[in-house]
Amino acid sequence: MDEVPRTPETANARRSARIPGFHRMSMEERRAAVAAFAGLDDEAVVRLADTGALPADLAERMIENAVGAMPVPIGIATNLRIDGIDRLVPMATEESSVVAAVCNAARLNYDDGGFITSATQSLMIAQIQLTGVSDPLGARLAILERRERICAICNACDPVLVRHGGGFADLEVRIVESRSGPMVITHIVVDTRDAMGANAVNTMAETLAPHIEGWTGGKVYLRILSNLADRRLARARAVWRAEALGGPDVVEGIVQASHFAEADPYRAATHNKGVMNGVGACVLATGNDTRAIEAGAHAYAARNGRYASLARFERNDAGDLVGTLEMPLAIGLVGGATRVHPVARTCVAILGAESAQEMARIFCAVGLAQSFAALKALATDGIQKGHMGLHAQNLAMMAGAVGEEIDAVAGALVASGSVRMDLAETELARLRNEKG
Ligand code: NAD
Repeated sequence: MDEVPRTPETANARRSARIPGFHRMSMEERRAAVAAFAGLDDEAVVRLADTGALPADLAERMIENAVGAMPVPIGIATNLRIDGIDRLVPMATEESSVVAAVCNAARLNYDDGGFITSATQSLMIAQIQLTGVSDPLGARLAILERRERICAICNACDPVLVRHGGGFADLEVRIVESRSGPMVITHIVVDTRDAMGANAVNTMAETLAPHIEGWTGGKVYLRILSNLADRRLARARAVWRAEALGGPDVVEGIVQASHFAEADPYRAATHNKGVMNGVGACVLATGNDTRAIEAGAHAYAARNGRYASLARFERNDAGDLVGTLEMPLAIGLVGGATRVHPVARTCVAILGAESAQEMARIFCAVGLAQSFAALKALATDGIQKGHMGLHAQNLAMMAGAVGEEIDAVAGALVASGSVRMDLAETELARLRNEKG
């Protein structure tokens, strides 16, 4: 039998994470407690305290136990022409090459029209899990018969949403077989307009639940939205001329890469990670919920029973490359952090989108651009060549380079053709030696 690894008898093992009243402390007191726990020096505590453009009192209202903020760079994707309108798109990401990839992809189709997008309505689904009914078929119909009543109950929960043209849109009841027997799952479908809608639909589901118990005699457990937002899809398509890409071989390489991702989940996961590099960065920049979008995207990718690729590429009659992307994009212009976080508000202003739907369409175009750029790199030079410049700078900084040393060390690494940590350290030592 494998030996169970034991926690080493270090200082770590002796410190207590039980800190009574931590949530009631001021941010400063919390930082002091964390500093004592982790042995942070004053400089580290000051860094933690710097919340930048996010006011500390706002940070504290946004989450529990706040001690600081995590700055992530925002880059602007240029060259994007979407539905005939030029857009500058803010992207918040820690990963090098993501912003450059979108700029390059968009530059290559800008003169040919850029991206064409569309979207479904902003419909979200909330689920109510009913258990313990001996007649699930009867219970299902008993719920469906009360559509008008359900509509009224839901809409009474959110008059503001109704005033904006949203509210209850549809009712579905499914019987799901489970290890605990049949469950009667009610879906309320709600038009959430410019809101992501989680709070809106969760309130409706919680309000409706006791009524459903009363109508059926069953017991409700879960009442929560589904992140598989398959009634809230955004779509983008674009054509890249073979000539602009460097010829038919490049088109063939990208089409082959696309077919590989359609056929193989191992490849599809990485392919979709490429899409999400673009989409996730836009979602974060606008203060939207990155996890909701990730969960929705991957669940949608597996909707046919096998995980597959979201973005697809094919060749048209003219031999040019056609890219398409369709994915759920439950994002909001109101609600969540989007309206309260000052940087998110600025990013929304840069985008210039007037509705959540318009914003989702832009993000979908960015996802397609990102996927195209990744496949083009993979089908030609490989991904590392484009990554190397910024990666070399990261390694230089990790080796301890500061100021002008960063470019000097990174430049030497790229020139040598070996972008490695040990070589960054050697180069930095040589540089400092040289300077005396
Ligand atoms: P919200 O409740 O903060 O704001 C939405 C409300 O704004 C609407 O219900 C409506 O009353 C009002 N509103 C004003 N103008 C509107 C307009 N033009 N269109 C639509 N509504 C308008 O936010 P939300 O969107 O209901 O919830 C989003 C938040 O919920 C996010 O922070 C998300 O992280 C969180 N959340 C997510 C999950 C999940 O994804 N599983 C679960 C729980 C909470």
